[in-house]
Amino acid sequence: DVEMQGVWAVQGGMIAITQTLTDLARAKGVRFICGVNCDEILQRNRKVSGVRLSNGETIQTQAVIFNGDAMALQTGLLGEANRHASPITQTTRSLSAITWSMYAKPHGFPLIRHNVFFDSDYDSEFTDIFYRKRLPQKPTVYICAQDQTDTHISHLAGERLLCLVNAPATGDHQQPTLSEIESCQEKSLSLLEHCGLNLSLADATVTRTTPQDFHRLFPATGGALYGQANHGWMDTFRRPAAQTAIPGLYLAGGSAHPGAGVPMAALSGRMAAATLMGHLGLTKRSGRVLISGGTLMP
Ligand SMILES: Cc1cc2nc3c(=O)[nH]c(=O)nc-3n(C[C@H](O)[C@H](O)[C@H](O)COP(=O)(O)OP(=O)(O)OC[C@H]3O[C@@H](n4cnc5c(N)ncnc54)[C@H](O)[C@@H]3O)c2cc1C
Repeated sequence: DVEMQGVWAVQGGMIAITQTLTDLARAKGVRFICGVNCDEILQRNRKVSGVRLSNGETIQTQAVIFNGDAMALQTGLLGEANRHASPITQTTRSLSAITWSMYAKPHGFPLIRHNVFFDSDYDSEFTDIFYRKRLPQKPTVYICAQDQTDTHISHLAGERLLCLVNAPATGDHQQPTLSEIESCQEKSLSLLEHCGLNLSLADATVTRTTPQDFHRLFPATGGALYGQANHGWMDTFRRPAAQTAIPGLYLAGGSAHPGAGVPMAALSGRMAAATLMGHLGLTKRSGRVLISGGTLMP
């Protein structure tokens, strides 16, 4: 029902969220260090004491909010001492993808903002991905046509497109080979052609991103884009919370509660900040109030 009412879009595109948050943070005195990894979250007396960066710099601090995938802690990527910060019991990864970001001139099909092209056997895609751990033989292709609206606009020169095909999150092992990726690309383009959309990659400016690339961007994920898989109602409760077992270490992001997706990740950031502020004694206790309705508990 929610989807039937439409989806939210950000004015200025997704980048506007990052730019707005960055501007707000800078105005509050935040310093950003870009282009370096956090190699280790340091501890002293079993409490967070700082971070060690890949440029050799060490920053002393009593509190760290870790926004990478929680699995990176569990696999020891941020230091052995942080392995048990927040044990993850649900270990089936969510979907990865192959994406093609391009500037192209599509023909023959009036694209709108969101477009999904289905092949003849939708179920086989998930059997391939989750059970056979291979690229789908009959991929579903999603195209986000960023320069379109809900009604088609003709762009004479070309337009920006993001094409996405689901893939198994095996960017760290059992990676798809180049020929498997090329074959998936061919199948995707011929599905589009079958549906009436001609898209020539040869004439377009294209950046292709594979599960291996996503794994490099999001360490310890295998390229999974949405944290751990959510296959049952109980899985929702297995995600790690903001507070970890290590004093001073907090989690935020798509792998933590309440889950993946930009709105959820943003909520998890607020929860992590609220938990940290509570621990630092920066949150005012709210006074008792009487509310009408509600449930009486024995
Ligand atoms: C192609 C694609 C399509 C998607 N489509 C949608 C969609 O339509 N709707 C939706 O809601 N969500 C979508 N998502 C998912 C959404 O982007 C994520 O759920 C969300 O960005 C998670 O936010 P985050 O802050 O947890 O992590 P991220 O946005 O992944 O940010 C975490 C950052 O931390 C960095 N990092 C990790 N470890 C370290 C380290 N040790 N040192 C330094 N930096 C580190 C990573 O490089 C990354 O830049 C999509 C994702 C992708 C990739």
